[in-house]
Amino acid sequence: MHIGEFLREAKCCIRCLHRLSGKHNRANFVLRRADDAEHANVKHGAELLQNCQPVLQEEHKSESCPLCLGILGDNFLSSCLNKIAKKMLEDGYDSDTFSLNAMIPNSIAIRQHSLYTYAKEKLRDEVWKQEDVVSVKDALKYGLTEKLEEKTRKKCDVKSDLRVTVVADYINDRKEVSALMQCSKGSNSRKRKYGGKPSQSISSIQTTLDEMKSVETLSKYADCPPQLPTESCSLKDILCFQEAIYVAGRYNKYSRELSQTPWIIDGTRKTESSVQELICDKILQYFRATDLKFISAGREDVDVKMLGSGRPFAIELINSRRTKTSEEDVKELQISINSSTDMIAVNRLQMIPKKDLTLLKEGEEHKIKLYRATVYAKNGVSDEKLESLQNVKDLVISQKTPVRVLHRRPFAARSKTIHSISAERIDQNHFALNLSTQAGTYIKEFVHGDFRRTCPSLGSLLETEVDILELDVQEVELVWPPAKEEEERIF
Ligand SMILES: [Zn+2]
Repeated sequence: MHIGEFLREAKCCIRCLHRLSGKHNRANFVLRRADDAEHANVKHGAELLQNCQPVLQEEHKSESCPLCLGILGDNFLSSCLNKIAKKMLEDGYDSDTFSLNAMIPNSIAIRQHSLYTYAKEKLRDEVWKQEDVVSVKDALKYGLTEKLEEKTRKKCDVKSDLRVTVVADYINDRKEVSALMQCSKGSNSRKRKYGGKPSQSISSIQTTLDEMKSVETLSKYADCPPQLPTESCSLKDILCFQEAIYVAGRYNKYSRELSQTPWIIDGTRKTESSVQELICDKILQYFRATDLKFISAGREDVDVKMLGSGRPFAIELINSRRTKTSEEDVKELQISINSSTDMIAVNRLQMIPKKDLTLLKEGEEHKIKLYRATVYAKNGVSDEKLESLQNVKDLVISQKTPVRVLHRRPFAARSKTIHSISAERIDQNHFALNLSTQAGTYIKEFVHGDFRRTCPSLGSLLETEVDILELDVQEVELVWPPAKEEEERIF
């Protein structure tokens, strides 16, 4: 049998015929108006297809195809084109570029292998090279890119942070895949470790197919050659996803009744708002992101104020429609956040690249934090004792996980360093305490000793019972957001 005759019998669509020719000539796949289809086919027809010209025109009109299941048919491509363009414009992504991807039924791999196996037995030497075949995904991209660029006024770029995915659905996909995978029943090697069901990832399907080299074997589990599907693929969904962008800054917290993140126990809110919500609600709105992650260099308790230059934070904005912004716009955003509340304030708000996040995480352990606390000494404390605290330099203390957080943190004993201490008397029983400590030190526990779970403690140093009344974080010593290159050059 001649290849032309063979392919005519196989009833593949024109774009699949071009795929088999192995030539990545975009023009062969482009979605065209009906009247220039003929011209395009003649002009760009691959050698392999020269004998199929009469049938190509006929098949071109048909949406059914045993190989691509109609994905490369004009109807499917046009509906992709319109829906993608509509979705991208409606969602309002501001990216100048996009990348195009596709999720296609796994049965396409089975069908392609089946036609190849069949052709190899029928045609012998004349068969196409399977490894050269243009994939359905690539063909789909070639078919759509140009028109999509026109419609959306965005450039297609594989490296784009805006990913558009076409999801195609084929009603018999599961049936055809499980029929093939029947062959691995009884063989333990291909079964998943857990659950016992044979896995049906595209790679396991491909492995199974690679072992089926004859029409006789393959015919037991799949149609060989592949038959026209009773129903073609439908366009299930268009997914648009923008890679995360990051905003950084520092925040002050002036309230003793505000948690850092929404504090909800058993569905009931414990605090009216949170630092996170007060900062992020406006940012989320501005960037039109789907969701966000609030990342901070540590946290303070509800009743602790965050003063000084503020606590470093970053916000990961997920699937943000807006990605382009000016420094002025971000300044405006900062003003708008700060004027909406007196419980918190943000400063140095700016966009940062993702790589800078590591600095925030690395700083977590090593940064130095300054605190100011009001301490109560039930039995009073002498001036000598208070003054003696100034002699403390880099005191290493051992802290077991505090009783108050044991329900949510694992038990551990950690060494932390108290770099320096100073105290100023307020009255007989009260004094102000200034502390410089390693990040991650539990300050309240260092003061009262937490039933001797922290030693030494301020109480043990003063040899009297003390308790903490108020605590403020005075400074978190971490350069954040990181200095930009231009700024570095100035200094
Ligand atoms: Zn096709």
